[in-house]
Amino acid sequence: MDATGVDALLLSVGADLPYLTGYEAMPLERVTMLVVPRDDDAALVVPRLEAPRVVEQPDVFTVVAWDETDDPLALIAGLVGRGAGSVGIGERTWARFVLGLQEALPDTRFRSATDVMAPLRMQKDAAEIERLETAAHAVDRVAAEMHDRPFGGRTESDIHRELAARILEHGHQRVNFAIVGSGPNGASPHHEAGERLIGDGDVIVCDFGGTMQGYCSDITRVFVVGEPTTEVRDVYAVLFEAQEAGVRAATTTTTCESVDAAARAVIDGAGFGEYFVHRTGHGIGLEEHEEPYIVAGNRQPLEPGHAFSIEPGIYFPGRFGMRLEDIVVAADAGPRRLNEASRELAVVA
Ligand code: ZN
Ligand code: ZN
Repeated sequence: MDATGVDALLLSVGADLPYLTGYEAMPLERVTMLVVPRDDDAALVVPRLEAPRVVEQPDVFTVVAWDETDDPLALIAGLVGRGAGSVGIGERTWARFVLGLQEALPDTRFRSATDVMAPLRMQKDAAEIERLETAAHAVDRVAAEMHDRPFGGRTESDIHRELAARILEHGHQRVNFAIVGSGPNGASPHHEAGERLIGDGDVIVCDFGGTMQGYCSDITRVFVVGEPTTEVRDVYAVLFEAQEAGVRAATTTTTCESVDAAARAVIDGAGFGEYFVHRTGHGIGLEEHEEPYIVAGNRQPLEPGHAFSIEPGIYFPGRFGMRLEDIVVAADAGPRRLNEASRELAVVA
């Protein structure tokens, strides 16, 4: 906060609050907010009825409960103090609370708390990496199990339900998504599984993940029903090499944008550049998508402990699509993949 010139942090719903306190705010019309003044003790302002769920940590924060007839925004503004020139507020905070606080603190400049929180959250410590790895290995097992499962004659929704069930079965507390894009639907990167019946020769993109012990998993594998055509094999070989190049480039001596460039160069070189329509990856931790983003223009240097996806894709509108995704951690010894599931094109029945 000293380095960024932030006088107080205000953190409500979203991952910043549990990152600092272990407590996740209910997304309610009743405001919960951690107030962290630069030079004073932190206070967690919570609705009285939520207070029993909070485990107070006096060395980190105290609890300030508000009653139904109190004005919690006035309470928060009082804790911040009128002298605060610059307040960092969590990006997920409901607009009604931000607007109320701006009114209560007319001389304060509001900015994103991410300026303070992202550098902290990006740098995963050993315990966080262990949780990411445990979650990664759980979805690896799901991916491996799907190799032996039939896809032909089933709907995308049916495969979606099976993926979701297996994610939970392997220890996740929550399923965050299970994208199943078959045939032409695979060309839409975030296609929502529907009633399309999967048939012979279909290429299927399965991108799934959940939350386990607070930390997220995220993996994409490509399946094909029956022997793939030469075209499918050739395009997959390009995708495979692009993902390899992205992972190889993810060293602690480079920037996020050069990792994106390394993966993109392979796809561009094969003439498919216009079909790779998204960034190469995103950070992962308490949230599925967080900093650092592996994208052109992001000059953020990779540092030991940064965890992120490498997930190039190639999408032919109206025909088929492919994406290959692993979670990688940057380390001085070189990039480390957390996912171990086979990356070969999976031929299924
Ligand atoms: Zn994914
Ligand atoms: Zn991802």
